[in-house]
Amino acid sequence: MAFQEDLHRDGSGPRFGGQRILLVEDSRMFSAVLCHRLHAELGVNVKPCSSLRVLEETIGHSPNGYAMAIVDLTLPDAPYGEALDCVIAHGIPPIVFTAAFDIETRNRIMERNVIDYVLKDNEFALDSLVSSVRRALSNRKTRVLVVDDIASARLALVRMLEAQQYMVAEAASGLEALAALETFNDIEVVITDHHMPDMSGYELTRRIRRCFGSDKLRIIGVSSSGDRMLSASFLKAGASDFLYRPFLPEELQCRLANNVETLTQFKQLRAAAACDYLTGLYNRRYFYDLGPKLVNDCLRQKAASAVAILDIDHFKRLNDTYGHEIGDEVLKAVALRLATIFEGSDNLLSRLGGEEFAILFPMMDSIAATKLCDEIRSDISRLKVMADDEEISVTVSIGVAEVSDYETFDNYLNAADQFLYMAKHKGRNQVYSDARMTEEAAQ
Ligand code: GH3
Ligand code: MG
Ligand code: MG
Repeated sequence: MAFQEDLHRDGSGPRFGGQRILLVEDSRMFSAVLCHRLHAELGVNVKPCSSLRVLEETIGHSPNGYAMAIVDLTLPDAPYGEALDCVIAHGIPPIVFTAAFDIETRNRIMERNVIDYVLKDNEFALDSLVSSVRRALSNRKTRVLVVDDIASARLALVRMLEAQQYMVAEAASGLEALAALETFNDIEVVITDHHMPDMSGYELTRRIRRCFGSDKLRIIGVSSSGDRMLSASFLKAGASDFLYRPFLPEELQCRLANNVETLTQFKQLRAAAACDYLTGLYNRRYFYDLGPKLVNDCLRQKAASAVAILDIDHFKRLNDTYGHEIGDEVLKAVALRLATIFEGSDNLLSRLGGEEFAILFPMMDSIAATKLCDEIRSDISRLKVMADDEEISVTVSIGVAEVSDYETFDNYLNAADQFLYMAKHKGRNQVYSDARMTEEAAQ
């Protein structure tokens, strides 16, 4: 079982490995720095094009090969934005990166439904451009629900959002919006009109907030009303933001980006709070948070589950012999092996602390869990960790207890811990459980 949220373990946010983007820029300095930064920070592959001629050749070779293009408006062989025309004609969504900027240029650019424009006129230009690319790529995985009873107003919003690369869902009423939230479980932002026949925007906001907190879903109110109370009332009802119509696409873009960024930060906080710093596995807190829910789900279905505690044998001796740092390497190697074994399964693996790991096996009885744990024990005894040109091996002892009645979660772990103690007592490198005890009694 892996982190449920799509984040890089180091907390840097999502990466976009393998995507290719075009960079149409005649300045060698900008081009070199951007190619490097976009690859290093976002994991994307950048194809630089220093002129319109090179751009046309590049697209000719691979017409459908690019996720987006960063386009300078003035190039020696294309002084009037011809490069922008070229990428748009090939259906490649552009981000304009330009030094030449005035209000007419802005209007001309915005008419073309570009993703964004970034000005070269300040020291943060490159940072802004990298952020803009990051946002555009992550918007493709972010779903926004647009709620408006007037089709033309809805369509105008949908167009703006699609230009910014968001995935969009639409609803023509409050009830349709609530249904859409059930259909799509990945909606992160709801943008809702206020005056709608079946339900006002406030009412919709309140109803959504009964199920989704602002750490899971952002709500932005929009209205063309002149009532100055509206924004305050929306925010009081639980909306995250509000815009009076008419608004510029840039304003929507920035407010939306801020709201999505806030959600990302919540996700990063949750991931950090659930993660064990040394091994990257789930930590004790997360195990105690999710474990009882999984157990209760099984008990409600009258199905057994099992809990195991795995402890590395003589780990103190290993630390004393090789040092704490090598001890850490062994812990990481064991954790990685366990993570690989459980990858894609429904079992919940965590590091409880020290050299102790806990595993919850939902819908599995003690006999099956004991058998599986014995395979894990044997697998880990074959693991080799390199330390200072020496191969180190470790063994583990595992206690397994069945969960078949409602008890406190601590009780299940205490039972597993007692079986672990017996496994240690019987000589280590063993699995002991209620199933094994019954087996032994029968012999
Ligand atoms: P047993 O076979 O009975 O489990 O013996 P043991 O030596 O493995 O168990 P004991 O509980 O006596 O010692 C555990 C050691 O693990 C003591 C502690 O210093 C070490 N330890 C705890 N956390 C870490 C860690 O994060 N890194 C390293 N390197 N060592 C740790
Ligand atoms: Mg130990
Ligand atoms: Mg221990």
